[in-house]
Amino acid sequence: MKTVSLSLIMSALLFCMPALAAERPIAIAIHGGAGTIEKSKMTPEQEKAYRAKLREALDKGYAVLERGGSSLDAVVAAITTMESSPLFNAGKGAVYTYDGKHELDASIMDGKTRQAGAVAGVQHIASPISLARLVMEKSPFVMLAGEGAEAFARSQGVPLVDNKLFDTPKRLKQLNEAKEKLKKERKVKDYQAAVDALPTPFKVGTVGAVALDRAGNLAAGTSTGGMTAKRYGRIGDSPVIGAGTFADNDSCAVSATGHGEYFIRYNVAADICARVKYQGKSVAEASDKVINGILAPIGGTGGVIVLDRSGNIALTFNTTGMYRASRSSSQPAQVEIFQGE
Ligand code: ASP
Repeated sequence: MKTVSLSLIMSALLFCMPALAAERPIAIAIHGGAGTIEKSKMTPEQEKAYRAKLREALDKGYAVLERGGSSLDAVVAAITTMESSPLFNAGKGAVYTYDGKHELDASIMDGKTRQAGAVAGVQHIASPISLARLVMEKSPFVMLAGEGAEAFARSQGVPLVDNKLFDTPKRLKQLNEAKEKLKKERKVKDYQAAVDALPTPFKVGTVGAVALDRAGNLAAGTSTGGMTAKRYGRIGDSPVIGAGTFADNDSCAVSATGHGEYFIRYNVAADICARVKYQGKSVAEASDKVINGILAPIGGTGGVIVLDRSGNIALTFNTTGMYRASRSSSQPAQVEIFQGE
């Protein structure tokens, strides 16, 4: 009798399991940079191109989740799509350094294991996010920089590419304008003011993604060319775990974009997740507090995409726009650029 009822329970459980798994939420959110992005300063063609590329990146990531793939794979699928587009300040469309080169930063984090990988200041890597993942999975380290990171890439069979691959006329124009402005200011410290004065949309475009897979695991990743006219080997927040990227299954996953120096000093991504974890705040409340309550008053411009294990998504920014898109099992795909959409 006991055996019969036990096997009945077992088969009932087995019967229910696929249904339970199917009910588990999946979700993805992506960004393509935050800044002074205004509809009036964009041509309809530019707007269309951005929306289409965001949608493509979102769909690639979501497709991975739908077929039961991991959140890490979804994050990489979405980010590599944006890295290979000249529209965004990551990979192909990376901004120029003061010396007329491109130095790329990226990081990725696995919310299940809290493993992380990052690369900083790489010049010959077509997909920095893919290399960051290799650092996480194939090295005992978290962050590799410059030539060392590229030697590691070679050891993993990753081809090195010419730095010129990242050249684009619009980014060069932006660099020249920034340098003109800097010459007038005569102070290196004012380079942010110079960058601030540049026309949109040429100065934003860091990319990032956060995802939740069917197994309930969160992941986050970010990839960038950094800031126009950066010099002296400047590294922003994007490759810094806790600042530009963070993921922890116990709280949330975050990818940030904005003025990196502020995001590093305020440990933005980790701070948002700490508020979720220890204060019981929602991802919307926690990100609003950090982005609008703490960063905005001190001049820290930018935004974040945040996702928790229940599939709740927050897309929070204190600028006039943020290229962004999201989709979950309970929310259809949304692509947005401007404030209040
Ligand atoms: N956060 C990036 C950096 O400071 C730039 C950006 O997101 O636009 O390098």
